[in-house]
Amino acid sequence: MPKMRTTLIRGGAAVIGQTVSQQDVLIQGEHIAALGKLSDHKADIEIDASGLLVLPGAVDTHVHFNDMFMNTISVHDYYTGTLAAAYGGVTSLIDFSNQVSGEPLMNTLKIKKDEAKGKALVDWGVHPVITQPTPNILEEIPLVVEEGAPSVKCYLTYREEGLMVKEEDLKRILESLQKSGGMLMVHAEDNEIIEENVKRFISSGLSKPIYHAQSRPPEAENRAIRRCLQLAKETGGRVFIVHLASDEGVELIGAAKLEGLDVIAETCTHYLILTEKMLERDDGIKWICSPPLRSQSIQDKLWEGLEDGRLAMVTSDDAAYSWEAKLYGAQRFDECPNGIPGIEARLNLLYSEGVAKGRIALPRFVELVSTTPANVFGLAPQKGSLNSGSDADIVLFDPKAKWNMNQQTLHMATDWSAYENIEITGKIVKVFSRGELIIDGNRCLAEKGRGRYIRRRLDSSRQKPT
Ligand SMILES: [Zn+2]
Repeated sequence: MPKMRTTLIRGGAAVIGQTVSQQDVLIQGEHIAALGKLSDHKADIEIDASGLLVLPGAVDTHVHFNDMFMNTISVHDYYTGTLAAAYGGVTSLIDFSNQVSGEPLMNTLKIKKDEAKGKALVDWGVHPVITQPTPNILEEIPLVVEEGAPSVKCYLTYREEGLMVKEEDLKRILESLQKSGGMLMVHAEDNEIIEENVKRFISSGLSKPIYHAQSRPPEAENRAIRRCLQLAKETGGRVFIVHLASDEGVELIGAAKLEGLDVIAETCTHYLILTEKMLERDDGIKWICSPPLRSQSIQDKLWEGLEDGRLAMVTSDDAAYSWEAKLYGAQRFDECPNGIPGIEARLNLLYSEGVAKGRIALPRFVELVSTTPANVFGLAPQKGSLNSGSDADIVLFDPKAKWNMNQQTLHMATDWSAYENIEITGKIVKVFSRGELIIDGNRCLAEKGRGRYIRRRLDSSRQKPT
């Protein structure tokens, strides 16, 4: 057997579980071989990490690459998207793959394998999205679970875009997932409330971006979340609420957990950093996303939910549409493709606004961006934490460095940025993916196509994340 290359990262402060302590990290081949005081060890490559944090690579389980939506396609493909991911410290991601009309559900995996081939720089997985739950599609649910894609997403809105499923179908999908060891992810916004509001606003000439937010009030989310919780109760199935952005939603999830329902919720970076005030600007279409950005008081509630565990994790909901495409909404908000590019910004923003500003502790930050997403979506123990034997997915992070986040300092493929001139504390210095140095300062060293498909399996003991 050829000798595996070794790398020794010396003297950094590693975040392992709830502790932060000085640990040397030995990488052998693709894995972490040892952690601890390794002063007598030698390695092929030695890196001085004193003054730096040693973090597990970030895991982003909510991204939309090559996503065809509202007459456009997202500009992040498996090269540009994973490049931005790597610069943002993301070493594993899970992408949504929409069911194609008339095709088997298994094709959702094949489509992404084709898209990733020769392009992906980091490891990736797939969430199949069911939009037409015919009996044949329902029968295929155990097959996609078996193929390593056990998390299936459905939408309760976007009827006109062809994404919405009916509630009775949602129940059938959840029952099938429960039997086969899967989990249902739901975009929980009530379509009826939204469609009625949009019609009313547009017909009265209220077409500016702020009316996008007003057409999708927190109550639209709350109503849909209540229905999902009811389904979780009726079926005993596991339900994951994506991009939660309502204060009452946080309370509903908290109460459901106390009741013992198998329910988990995430929020996304932009709801924690930006408010609906952005939509009042002349270029407010930049910040049109769904659910919409909310008030400051709701934002404060979301941070509270993250701190106390009612919200389990933070993802980016990366949906990167070009400025040209966003301009479809220049005259009326309902024609703007909904979405914000964010895969690169999440780790930095969460550290800067969360840890550096004292809102969350450093170990909690690591749980939110790495450990819990990996645990919930079946990527652990290979991904999401620094353990001997795990994949050597590691971020070296300078907690003191200051920089300005804007279109010029980010690497995402959009020709605009939702984050304009945000002062950031903390900077990614190096990123390793399976033992390979892929980001070194402002250089990307990763070879196209090195990223691998991750076959996932959900934890059968169904441990609830804290
Ligand atoms: Zn999304």
